[in-house]
Amino acid sequence: MSTVAEPSVTPPSEPQEEPPLSDTEEVRLRAALAALPAYVPGKPAAALPGQVTYKVSSNENPYAPLESVQKVVAESAATINRYPDMAVTALTARIAEAVGVSPENVATGTGSVGLLSHVVQAMCDAGDEVVYAWRSFEAYPIVVAVAGAVSVQVPLGPDGRHRLDAMADAVTDRTKVVIVCTPNNPTGPSVTAAELDAFLARVPRTVLVVLDEAYLEFVTDDAAPDAVAVWRAHPNVMVLRTFSKAYGLAGLRVGYAVAHPRVAAALRQTATPFGVSSIAQAAAIASLDAYGELRERVTALVAERERVSAGLAEQGWRLPASQANFVWFPLGAESAAFAAACDAAGLVVRRYGDDGVRVTIAEPEANTRLLEVARSFGPR
Ligand SMILES: *Cc1c(COP(=O)(O)O)cnc(C)c1O
Repeated sequence: MSTVAEPSVTPPSEPQEEPPLSDTEEVRLRAALAALPAYVPGKPAAALPGQVTYKVSSNENPYAPLESVQKVVAESAATINRYPDMAVTALTARIAEAVGVSPENVATGTGSVGLLSHVVQAMCDAGDEVVYAWRSFEAYPIVVAVAGAVSVQVPLGPDGRHRLDAMADAVTDRTKVVIVCTPNNPTGPSVTAAELDAFLARVPRTVLVVLDEAYLEFVTDDAAPDAVAVWRAHPNVMVLRTFSKAYGLAGLRVGYAVAHPRVAAALRQTATPFGVSSIAQAAAIASLDAYGELRERVTALVAERERVSAGLAEQGWRLPASQANFVWFPLGAESAAFAAACDAAGLVVRRYGDDGVRVTIAEPEANTRLLEVARSFGPR
């Protein structure tokens, strides 16, 4: 007889009805979580019989990663038994060089959403206020509530633009952060340099102003601000950028902040240790190195945005002027019908309740299909 004990197998027991726990026996989640809005990711493209479908719901870059970037990603995969460089040294230096700042002014994170969450945690105690326009990026209310802070949402103007004067009016002693999303997701317009200067002259130096430039590379309006110059001139300004959109690395989660040293150091303190993976670090460096090639894609997407915007205007649509890689249809109660019409045509779009529908500029065929759907829906 073997002396090795056989593993004992307990027959599966009948599932037992658990008695309901009373309040004193349940783990005590923060009440704030129950009130959190859900982040709604763009739906994947559904397969429709006999029709190519396009996912135009997440403002992603429709182009596959560059071969040079894919090569670096594959090489970097061979080292993933090791932790990444926690200080993100090489990428930080490369970003600093590209932006024209010192490495101490650069902080990286798991996408710019990661950095945003870290900055709110670094700035806000419970009950402190964060001012931003609404509608804007749907991560904002979530990041603010998770930090225990309070969102102060200032409605956009009817043209889908920030009302920076009203945002300055909304600043109180409790305000720690103001977020300016430029170009604004989901409506598309940028703020102007003049508006931003006037706004910054009114905001106390103790309040951090975050310029979220996720779509910077698509901006062509000469009136748009030079955010790094604005940052240089104002000790309470920080700039957020991402590799997810123009650089096409949404799946790798890497973004950066340009910040003054105290804020940059606070971002490093609150960061998730080893958050930016070694693959993401390598791919971001390779993408900065290949920016000439990526720039051609951005130029093509901007040309497509202009084609779509002009086509819609010709059809009679009056839409906010987009400086990003998407267009916004402020359709109110008709949003569901328009989203359904897009869906039927193989365009998976992003509907925001009864506010409107956002459609990403993607492959030319998808953009042409959008123009067709918009024409038959009838301009508004
Ligand atoms: C897409 C987007 C981001 C970028 O998010 P990542 O976390 O970097 O992928 C940030 N801000 C806005 C307004 C966006 O639309």
